[in-house]
Amino acid sequence: MPNRPTVRFAPSPTGYLHIGNLRTALFNWLYAKVEGREGTFILRYDDTDRERSKPEYAEVIATDLEWIGIRPDVVVRQSDRLELYRAAAARLREAGLLYPCYETPDELETKRKRLLARGLPPVYGREALRLSAEDRARLEAEGRRPYWRFLLPNFDGEPFAQQRTEIHWQDLVLGEQTVDLASLSDPVLIRADGNELYTFTSVVDDGDMGVTHVIRGGDHITNTGVQIALLQALGYEVPTFGHHNLLTTIDGESLSKRSGALSLRSLRGAGVQPMAVASLAVLTGMSGSIEAASNLPELGARLDLSTVSASASKFDPAELDRLSAEITHRLEPGDIRTELEAIGVPPESVEAFWHAVRANCVKMADAAEWRAVVFGGSPVRPDLGEDDRQFTREAFDLLPDEPWDERTWKGWADAVKAATGRKGKALFMPLRIALTGLDHGPELASLLPLIGRERTLKRRP
Ligand code: GLU
Repeated sequence: MPNRPTVRFAPSPTGYLHIGNLRTALFNWLYAKVEGREGTFILRYDDTDRERSKPEYAEVIATDLEWIGIRPDVVVRQSDRLELYRAAAARLREAGLLYPCYETPDELETKRKRLLARGLPPVYGREALRLSAEDRARLEAEGRRPYWRFLLPNFDGEPFAQQRTEIHWQDLVLGEQTVDLASLSDPVLIRADGNELYTFTSVVDDGDMGVTHVIRGGDHITNTGVQIALLQALGYEVPTFGHHNLLTTIDGESLSKRSGALSLRSLRGAGVQPMAVASLAVLTGMSGSIEAASNLPELGARLDLSTVSASASKFDPAELDRLSAEITHRLEPGDIRTELEAIGVPPESVEAFWHAVRANCVKMADAAEWRAVVFGGSPVRPDLGEDDRQFTREAFDLLPDEPWDERTWKGWADAVKAATGRKGKALFMPLRIALTGLDHGPELASLLPLIGRERTLKRRP
C-alpha cells in the first residue's frame, strides 16, 4: 500500500449528504489519513449537471464534512475544468474512439426492444459508426445535433464483431472483479448540448489529478469496467478501485440525496454527536460490533475494507442516539468547557454541572435543557395536587442554610422525613418536581447545590 495515496470524494451538489454518502467520504478519508499515511484527500464537486447542481448544496456539503472532521487538502469543481474535458475529448476523437450518434431516445428504445425480442442482449449496435459524412451532414441539416459515444475496446480490428473482452481489477473490498466490455453499450460521454457526462469527466479528473485509489459505492461497479477502458485509452494510470456496499433504511430502501431525510445537515442541527454519525456510517456492515469511536484516528484503526459486507447493509437511525450517548457520557468537563460556557453554564460550575447531568445527556443539546433547569428561572411544573403542595411547602421551610454541597440533600431529606413522616418516592418525587419541573433527571444530591438556596426558594410552590 503506498504511503501517500491520493483519494477523492466526488459528490454531485444536487442535495444534502446522507449517512451513505458519508460512508464513502470517510472510507476515503480514513484510508488516506490513518496509520501514519499522509495521503491527499480531494473533495471534487461533480457539478456538470447544470440544472440540478446548486452552489448552496456545495456549501452545505463542505460544512457537513468539516463537522465530521474531514478537511480536504484540495477542493475542485468540475465546472471549472471544462477545458480539460474538451482537450481529452479531442484526443479521443483524433484516435477515432469518440463517435457522433444521432438516434433519438425513441429510436434507441425501438432498437432495444427488437434485440430483446430476438433474445439478444440490448447492447447498442454501433449503427452510427456506419454513417458516412454525407449521412451526418443530412442529419445535421435536419436539425439533429450529435451526441458522442466512446468506442469500447471490445473487438479485434472490426468494431461490429464484438468479442468477449474482460476487464479485471483487484477490488479493495470485493477482491477479484471482472466486467465483460462486450456486454455493454458504448457509453455516451458528451450529450447533444455539449455537456460532458460523469463517466468521462470523472476519468479525466482521476487521471489528471493522479488519484491512486477510487473508493466508492457498489452502484459504480459497471462504470468501473468502462472507466478503466477509458483511462487506458487516454493514457492514464489506472487507480486501485474499491466498491463498498450501500446502506439502506431499515425497510431496505436506498438513501437518496434528494429526500433530505437523515441528511447530515439535519443530524447536525439536531445536535447528534458527529462521531456517532461517523461511527455508524463506517462500522455498519463491517465485521465487529458498532461502538462509538471518540475520534477519526480511532475509527480509522477499525476500518478494514476487506471485511465490508458485499450486500447492502441496513442502518438503524435509533443507533445514533445510543452512540451519541456513549460519546457524550465519555466527555470530561475539560473537553467541553467552551461549549458549556457558551450555553450559559457559569464558569465556576462547569465541572459540577457536567458531572451532575452528563449521564442524562444523549447529545449536547440536552445539556442546554439541563442548564435551563438548573440555572434558569422557576420551572413550569405539572400541578402537584393539594397534598403534595402542602408537603412541599413544609419541606421547603426546612431547607438548611448555605453553604450547600453534595450532602445537603441527604440532610434535608432526613429532616423532612422526620417532620412529615413521608419517605421514599412520596418524599422525593414532589420535591424533584417542585425543583426541576420534571419527574426524572440527575441525582437531586448533585442538582441541589448547583441550583443553590436562592433559586431553590423561588421554586417553593
Ligand atoms: N458523482 C458521483 C456520485 O456521486 C461520483 C462517483 C465516483 O466516486 O466516481 O455517485
